[in-house]
This record gives sequence, C-alpha cells and structure tokens, in this order.
Amino acid sequence: MAKKTRVYLIGAGPGSQQLISIRALQIVKQADCILYDRLIAKELLSFARSDAELVYVGKDHSKHPIDQQQINRLLVEKASVHKTIARLKGGDAMIFGRATEEIKCLIENDIDFEIVPGITAASAAAACAGIVLTDRDTASAVTFITGHGAKDKEIDVDFESLAKLNGTIVFYMAVANMKQICRKLVDSGLASDINAIVVANASMENQKIVEGAVSDIAEKCTVEKIEPPALMIIGKNCQSYLKNQPLFGKRVLMTRDVTGNAAFAYKLAARAACPISCPAFELQDLTDTREVKDIINKIGDFDWVFFTSPTGVRVFFHALAGFSKDARAFASAKIACIGSETANALGEFGIIADFLPAEFTSKTLADSFIKEQAPAGKKILLLRSALADLTLAEKLQAAKAEVAQVSTYTAERLKSSFSGNVDWITFASSFAVRCFFENIDPKEIKKIKIASIGPATSDTLKNFGIMPTVEAQEHTIDGLIEIMEKFG
Ligand code: SAH
Repeated sequence: MAKKTRVYLIGAGPGSQQLISIRALQIVKQADCILYDRLIAKELLSFARSDAELVYVGKDHSKHPIDQQQINRLLVEKASVHKTIARLKGGDAMIFGRATEEIKCLIENDIDFEIVPGITAASAAAACAGIVLTDRDTASAVTFITGHGAKDKEIDVDFESLAKLNGTIVFYMAVANMKQICRKLVDSGLASDINAIVVANASMENQKIVEGAVSDIAEKCTVEKIEPPALMIIGKNCQSYLKNQPLFGKRVLMTRDVTGNAAFAYKLAARAACPISCPAFELQDLTDTREVKDIINKIGDFDWVFFTSPTGVRVFFHALAGFSKDARAFASAKIACIGSETANALGEFGIIADFLPAEFTSKTLADSFIKEQAPAGKKILLLRSALADLTLAEKLQAAKAEVAQVSTYTAERLKSSFSGNVDWITFASSFAVRCFFENIDPKEIKKIKIASIGPATSDTLKNFGIMPTVEAQEHTIDGLIEIMEKFG
C-alpha cells in the first residue's frame, strides 16, 4: 500500500537546538519537506535529508512577509507532492502559533496530521532564569498571555481577574506593549512591587535577563535595550533560584565559530548568564575533494585513525554518509581521539574511541599514545583541520609510525568586534585567539577577565601580552565554565 501523506505540526522548542524533542528530531531527519518558522534554531535544518525541500515561511515583517493564508496554501501544495511534511514552529506549536488556522486547513483538505509537542518559551525562559512558575503557597496558577492583540486590537484579557489570581503571569510577545501592560495590571489592582523578570532570547547566544518589579520593569528593559523575542514573567513567586550561581547575569563573550558558540551558549544560558556571541572564525568543510574520497575508500587499511576535534568527526561522518557509507568503513582500524568532546561526537555515530589521553592536549595525546601503543611501523591516519599544528604528526613520525594526514576542514577569520561591556572573554583554541586579535587591540581588554581552555591557548594569549585570568583544568567547554565559576 502506498504511504499516506502526513503533515507533522512540530514544536521545535525555543532558542537553542538542544530543546527539541526526540520525536520531533526523528521527523526532521525523515521529512521530504520542511516548512520552518523564523524563531526555530536554524542548526536543526542540518539534520534534514540532503534531498529534503526546505521552505522558509517566517513572518518577519521585513523583506518578503508571508501571510497565514499563503502558509496554508503552501502546506496543501507541499502535501500534494511529498509524503512526510514537517511544519516546524518555535516553542510549542499549540501556543501562540496560529496552529488553529493550519489544522483547520489540513482537515478541510483531508490531509492527515500529527501534532508533536515542543517546549514552550515560558518553560525555557523560566528554566534559564531559575524561576518556578507554580508554587503550592504562592502561585496556584500560571497564565500565558499574548502581549499583542490579533490584528492590532487590544489584548482580550480581563486584567482585574488576572490581578486577583493567586498565580504567575507570563506575557509572550511582551516587548512592544510592556509599559501599557504593566500600567494596566497595577491599575487593575496588582501590587506595584510584585516581582517581574524579562527573559530575552532564552537559551540562546544573546540571552538577557532583566529583573525588577511590575512598576519599573519596562523602564529597565528600555535601558537594557531589550528586543524581541522576550517574555515577561510576573508574580509573587517570580524570583531566580539561580541568583547565587557565580555566572548569574555575567556577560560572557564567546569566540568560537557560530555553531560552537551556540552549543557553549546553551550551557551558559542555563546558568542564567548572558552569553554574547563574537565568532572569531568560520569553519569550512574540505571533504568534497578527491583526496578525501580516496581516503574514505581505504580507511579500513589503517591501524589507527585519529580525530582531534568534534568538528573533524562531524564533517568526516557527513562526508561518509554522502557516499552512502557509515562507521563500518573503518573496518578493523582503531580510533584515537584528543578529548572527551571528540569522544562524545564519535559516540553520536556509534563509535567508542579506543584511545583517549588523560589530558586533552595534542602533546599528551602523542606522548601517551607513543608510550602505550608502540606505534613503530603502524599505519596511522590523522583526519585534521588544515590549520592544526604539526606536533602530533611529528611526534608520531619520530616514533617511526607511517603517518598520513588529510585535512577535512579549515577555518577562515571573521572580523571580531564587541562593545567592551563584558565580564569575561573566553578562548577555546589558539586559533580563536589569533583570529580575535587580528582586529582587536589587546590593550582594549586589559581590564576584562580572560578564560583559556588550556595551556596551548594560554601560550598564544601570552604571545599577545595577555595573561589569562583562569585556565581550565579539564580542556573542554565544561572545564572552561567550571573554572570561571570557581573564580567567581
Ligand atoms: N509557539 C511559541 C510562541 C510563539 S509567539 C512558543 O510556544 O514558545 C513568539 C513569542 O514567544 C515571542 O514574542 C516571545 O515572547 C516568545 N519567545 C519565543 N522564543 C523565545 C526565546 N528564545 N526567549 C524568550 N521568548 C521567546
């Protein structure tokens, strides 16, 4: 029997790609066609099949605004040519997501559908700000309200009833009308000193948290230049349980590439910090070459294959998949990797690394490998960045291993700029240091705390006259966060 066409109305979660559900990701991976909104994490699209049709249907009011009827028409049109259609919406599709119109349209056109729940922005914002939305004593209800009325009408809400509810109030789309909303609540009987917290870009690389009372939160948000997407949480119980965490409210500049910064940002955001993305470089995949194709065909002939970064793992497996191959291509070759993050990336592809050094640096990798594995005469392949330093290869060659090296990716510098108004600047590689100081005078950051991921990165910083304030003990992003927290 032919497969039935089905549209999946999916809540992709707000902000970070980490907040999508397993079910939703499964559909994204299988879909023939994905219609996606503005507020979804764009990294999620990298999970789509390479032949999937990707259609942007964001309603940003700039260039080519698309209206709801056009989206409905597109859904029907795509359902006539594809079998599995993922309709990806931010947060939960059923909350302020115009889902009614789309569901009615699917029913009218006799198109099968499934609804996949998502984490709504209120839950993510509450989690990242450390707010408990309900409480047995102080908040027996939580109300989600839109700060925008339909078609520019007033918000259709009884403010007096709302002010009387013993509960937490969450305003979505809160920025434009925040002042009027707060005034109306106070005029309707809500105590003006009741706590209010605004979370913008929850879970993302530009998360901001503003604390105040219902009487002054709007003004504070103007001072802090808060922009959408943001939500406002109001109530007696609206206080942050993350307040005593060392990174609470701290502005932490990240200098990895865009994807690296997004992953780092989620960890900072979940600690109620304010991550700031300042990508110092951009990664470029180099796997579309004859050299990589050849190596893929004979990778099983090596005794050992080395991976020295999670990026190296991902680009290589992506290239393998492009040739309809998987981890079996390695045959009996063993796998060594530089650290736990690279090992975790290998784990995503079903591979357990055979060798992981005790300390995550290329020098320790080389030294401990040579000591424990006697590499003389062994065929070793290094799948590396075109910019990686040569220590590892040189040491293995000196130990009489037969070393082949293939560059699977490279990186290009980006122009770094930042306002200077930050508490920490973080560096996760020597390369990031070199790129960052290409445009920024080290003198400009003399008063800012500097966190380095490890000794090689610290040495590069010192070459620019910067003494890192802290150096991670474990040379991973988690180690970097831990050392900043310890410093306070
Ligand atoms: N369906 C979505 C809401 C869409 S309405 C959900 O369930 O979350 C869009 C509003 O959601 C924004 O104006 C903002 O108030 C809120 N929002 C979405 N993503 C957000 C984020 N990362 N941080 C804070 N608020 C967010």
